[in-house]
Amino acid sequence: MGSGPLTAWREGLAAGDLSAEFLAFAALDRMDRLEGLLNATVHRDREASLRAARAADVRLARGERSPMLGIPVVFKDNLHWQGAPVSNGSRIMGGYRAPYHATVVRRLLEAGAVPVAKANMDEFAMGSSGEYSAFGPTRNPWDPRRVPGGSSSGSVVAVAAGYAPFALGSDTGGSVRLPGSFCNITALRPTYGVLSRYGVTAMASSLDQVGPVAGSAQDLAAGFSVMAGADPLDATSIHLPDAHRLAALRPADLKGLRIGLPREYFTAGIEPGVRAALDAALAVLGAQGAELAEVSLPHTAYAIDTYYLINTSEVSSNLARFDGMRYGARKPADTLQGMIADTRDQGFGPEAKRRILLGAFCLSKGYYDAFYLKALKTRTLIARDFQEAFRRVDLLATPVSPGTAWTFGAKSADPLAMYLADVFTVTPALAALPALSVPAGFAGGMPVGLQLIGPSLRDVQLLEVAHAFQQATAHHRQLPPL
Ligand code: GLN
Repeated sequence: MGSGPLTAWREGLAAGDLSAEFLAFAALDRMDRLEGLLNATVHRDREASLRAARAADVRLARGERSPMLGIPVVFKDNLHWQGAPVSNGSRIMGGYRAPYHATVVRRLLEAGAVPVAKANMDEFAMGSSGEYSAFGPTRNPWDPRRVPGGSSSGSVVAVAAGYAPFALGSDTGGSVRLPGSFCNITALRPTYGVLSRYGVTAMASSLDQVGPVAGSAQDLAAGFSVMAGADPLDATSIHLPDAHRLAALRPADLKGLRIGLPREYFTAGIEPGVRAALDAALAVLGAQGAELAEVSLPHTAYAIDTYYLINTSEVSSNLARFDGMRYGARKPADTLQGMIADTRDQGFGPEAKRRILLGAFCLSKGYYDAFYLKALKTRTLIARDFQEAFRRVDLLATPVSPGTAWTFGAKSADPLAMYLADVFTVTPALAALPALSVPAGFAGGMPVGLQLIGPSLRDVQLLEVAHAFQQATAHHRQLPPL
């Protein structure tokens, strides 16, 4: 128990029962069959995938063994995979193609992973549902009438639907954890800096992290093991202690592990079915020897305001570069000003425009102190809440979301309702902490996620705890009815 498809396939590849080429063919066939329904991918290059698979088979035949050699993978479309388009889920990129690899992509490819697709996403990673892509919404494989969660909608659905056992998304305020919880997938937001952001489209730079997703903690750790750590091309990147424990992840011993339950996260707003699933999951951890204790994170109430002030401010600055001069789409006009205005007006979708306007307002003279600076101060208070809590407990357990996946359109007409869906996921992002979404059961037939939040740089320990939990439970092995 505890392992997932990646681990099983790796064993099959090592034994010679499987070939990388066979796995790549299987992935491509599955996408051919299911993409009409799910719309999780935006780019596939059959020849490039099969070439990479054959190269992996040559390395396998030579006796080479490594955690990702021959394993199909999917990249969110805000990551640079040299030669392939980078759409960011937006029209504004036009035909832009990546001139180089993102460091995380390069490290996976060097380890022998076989890229099979680039994944659909909310435009520029802004969104919580997967509905804000210029290429149409991605559907939830558990119920196609429902959203998969966003913004890494396609990456998570690709794993849930069995296209690939490992995928990369990005997480600025919850974008792998929320879809992970909606689609029964294990999803990590690492400590800020542990994964290089070189070659990742910037959304909100003080928050952005690459997020690995997989069918189990053990599978996730295999891919994470070949990517984690400092990169000279990203000055914010840092070394991950204990990274050597990832490749062959072992379950943590939960005896005496102190798990804090923040009272502000277990509120009346949680759907009863979600609450019941979480209680049962916590009871499993308790039965394995963990000690559960209530803690308080008193500034939680300010998290959404703080996050969206900082996020929109950074978005307005980062997206200024998409002006028709250097990247992709350009709308010709008589004047330079007209060209820039038309390019941005026709290139960006409504959510990107909304954030650019809000962020420009927050940063403008006269409002900077009242909004942006205030948000930075509140961010420090939120981070201090966590530091205080981690004096008493080893990690925290919370819901990922107050509810399960909603039906299409339920929140897309009301931006504020959409923002509120991130209420439990933005806080670790603001505090630069690692946070993991773990399948914890079902409510009304839809998956429920448990969030584990650790102190800075305890990413490996979080995965080891999740691995222990997954040895005692079978939730993560449940597959959607496709
Ligand atoms: N839903 C959040 C937002 O829209 C988080 C997005 C993300 O993590 N990329 O900003």
